[in-house]
Amino acid sequence: MMEINERKSEEKDTSSSPEKSYFSIDEMRAEKGDKKKEGVNDLREGIDDKAGKIESIDDIRRSSENSALRKWEKANPEIAEIARLNTSSEQIKKMEWTQPEKWRTLDETQKRVALDRIGEVLMRSYDHPKPSLFVEENKDKKAIGSYGDGYKSDSSGNLIGADYGIELNREGELKRAHEKIFGKDPKLALGAYAHEFRHSYQYEQASRYEKPQFASLVDNPEKAREWSENIKTYNEAPPKELLDKDPDEYRKRFDKYANQPVEKDANNFADELIKRIYG
Ligand SMILES: [Zn+2]
Repeated sequence: MMEINERKSEEKDTSSSPEKSYFSIDEMRAEKGDKKKEGVNDLREGIDDKAGKIESIDDIRRSSENSALRKWEKANPEIAEIARLNTSSEQIKKMEWTQPEKWRTLDETQKRVALDRIGEVLMRSYDHPKPSLFVEENKDKKAIGSYGDGYKSDSSGNLIGADYGIELNREGELKRAHEKIFGKDPKLALGAYAHEFRHSYQYEQASRYEKPQFASLVDNPEKAREWSENIKTYNEAPPKELLDKDPDEYRKRFDKYANQPVEKDANNFADELIKRIYG
């Protein structure tokens, strides 16, 4: 059993953090001086012709001749990540409900189903199991969502059950937008969902990284190692009561929470996806 499994990571609204600094994929690309290979088509140029006529990353992965792509992905993990983001957002963009005028007409159940569809797209692009989505009620409006990594243990460390899934708070509000995540703006719900989905991907990648027999299924070993270490030393978000009692301490702990690798990566992932879908 892994050590990373016993708790849920509570999410708070990180948009208010003054120190929220993204290392965006654009910046990363600029730094690497590689702005060309962005789309699936470009990606295809990077692999040999044996892969045949391929429409998407999904096709490549499902095909029996996927070793060329897999090799290429492993040799270029950062560009492969951009290709996955592009593939996912192209597909999500085509879904009618992602338009604000359509989203507004959906009730909560329909919104949950719509978000679940996003999970299916991400699942295929990221070759990663889709976590179940639960909508729950938490009076703390700052609590947007949480991710359960799949295992619950008793005090002796014995496995007693699994709750692998994403929970989003129907009362959750993003300060930046002054709006509930299940309100009028699909970007908020989509962003919150994408953030939590990314955590599930991080956990999965970290867990594959830790098991030698699954090492070949790690997309980016450097990232997976960083996430694996961070998950073991995860800084929880401070309880909201601390904000009144000791604002300085609250801020200090909040920054520690928001600036750790898995949180920065999840925020960055959600931002990159939203940027591609809504421009
Ligand atoms: Zn998070």
